[in-house]
Amino acid sequence: MSSIFYNSLKNELEQKKVSLIAVSKTKPVENILELYNLGHRDFGENYVQELVEKAAQLPKDIRWHFIGHLQTNKVKLIIPLVQLIHGVDSLKLLKEINKEAAKAGKVMDCLLQVHIAQEETKFGLDEVELNQIINEAASFTNVRICGLMGMASFSDDTSLVRAEFASLNKQFQRLKELQTSNLKLETLSMGMSGDYKIAIEEGSNMVRIGSLLFGSRIK
Ligand SMILES: *Cc1c(COP(=O)(O)O)cnc(C)c1O
Repeated sequence: MSSIFYNSLKNELEQKKVSLIAVSKTKPVENILELYNLGHRDFGENYVQELVEKAAQLPKDIRWHFIGHLQTNKVKLIIPLVQLIHGVDSLKLLKEINKEAAKAGKVMDCLLQVHIAQEETKFGLDEVELNQIINEAASFTNVRICGLMGMASFSDDTSLVRAEFASLNKQFQRLKELQTSNLKLETLSMGMSGDYKIAIEEGSNMVRIGSLLFGSRIK
């Protein structure tokens, strides 16, 4: 990991008021510490077991972001550890987060994941489900819905990627008008190593970057 690259990326993002989540999945704790020692605190992980193990070994002031697909039976393991859950994609999952957060005496910040890519395999809510979950969630006292998250198609077609990000921003702008006791949209988490510049042009204020910082992953 190059500190020169990190610093220039950080400057670029700070100027645009975009926060950086360093995605450290599959990478050893040494790599995380290197970035930590440069002052970075926000790290993203995709797998519950890996997050639990890393968090136990690393400084307690790291802000962990869970960015993977979360199974309901694993929710209770991460509630005490994470700052923000990015990938909430069902009412069932949000309900479970609410229940476990209540037990832990915490209000859990969440982003709703919206399906914007053409690829069927990607997770996320469609527009109808998004509206439903927001209505149903109004009674949940231990979650705070603070934004949306999405992943564009993995494609070289930049106009497709741009259109997908734009569609997510449109949902974001629409829902920002709504404010209930536990809904206040401020965070638009979109953009990864390959497409973060386009994502920012289309309104992102939080990017999740892994391979550009830590090198490509084997698995
Ligand atoms: C792995 C991952 C990233 C980071 O991907 P890179 O292409 O390595 O930057 C971002 N978001 C999610 C949801 C991921 O799973």
